[in-house]
Amino acid sequence: MTKIMRGTTMPHCAAFGCNFQSKLNKGTDVSLHSFPHEKTRRKQWEDVCGRVQLPKDPRLCSSHFSPDAFEAFSRPRL
Ligand SMILES: [Zn+2]
Repeated sequence: MTKIMRGTTMPHCAAFGCNFQSKLNKGTDVSLHSFPHEKTRRKQWEDVCGRVQLPKDPRLCSSHFSPDAFEAFSRPRL
């Protein structure tokens, strides 16, 4: 599992209705991940988020992915 720690900003999940924050969810299996740079995949992530406006450095927590697709981050679960 990747741990994302960056400066003073508190990373949180960008998905609509999801308030996951790594700080508040220590000890869970859920983790936050930065969006991929690859266009097609990024679009998929944006679709999962369900919102038009995303933060500059959006993250998505692993609860939006099915376990078998988690490694590749290729198939967001809807
Ligand atoms: Zn989330």
